Amino acid sequence: MKIGLFFGTFNPIHVGHLIIANYMAQHPDIDQVWLVVTPHNPHKEKSTLLADYLRLDMVRDAIYDCPQLKVSDIEFHLAKPNYTISTLTHLQEKYPNDEFSLLLGADNLRSFQKWYNWEQILAHHKLYVYPRIAAAELNVSDELSKHPNIELVKDVPILGISASFVRTQLAAGKDCSFLLTDPVVKFIADRRLYQK
Ligand code: ATP
Repeated sequence: MKIGLFFGTFNPIHVGHLIIANYMAQHPDIDQVWLVVTPHNPHKEKSTLLADYLRLDMVRDAIYDCPQLKVSDIEFHLAKPNYTISTLTHLQEKYPNDEFSLLLGADNLRSFQKWYNWEQILAHHKLYVYPRIAAAELNVSDELSKHPNIELVKDVPILGISASFVRTQLAAGKDCSFLLTDPVVKFIADRRLYQK
């Protein structure tokens, strides 16, 4: 099976994430998308980051009826800090018959060459990059933009939504019904999350 890994903090998971995951799950070279919840990094204190298991449960609620979307807590059980290459190596050993690719927003491609062992990632895995900014502003090296293992996804809507924006709105007591799906709105309301 061909699996697209979509790493994120999902703090919270918003419609942008779900639109991207759902779109990529229908790509001819992807059978399933796994939303890999990134655990809290003890070296990066971030008070706004919800506990790992809350974010995991929230993602699970968000994708509950989509057979092509799965949630993964794989990084909760791996050594910290989490390097993508280690997670990929671990998954490839655990599922030798599956093929793993990465899905990321274009903002992440800009810093990709700073990732630990990025050359190794690119040598063995395909990267699908969903636009977050206009391609003209992306400003990545030719080495990346022309690399055969990188596909810049084209002709899709650019989604101007971020989890930070959603958190700010929620903290201000604003209604986020159309930025989040109903199960996520309920999950957050039931637990009074992201309030000031
Ligand atoms: P925050 O605002 O807290 O930084 P975020 O909305 O960027 O969060 P993450 O969980 O950090 O969400 O993102 C997970 C992945 O989803 C990343 O690869 C990111 O680039 C991508 N992503 C998130 N929102 C969008 C968007 N609106 N358009 C394109 N890619 C996105």
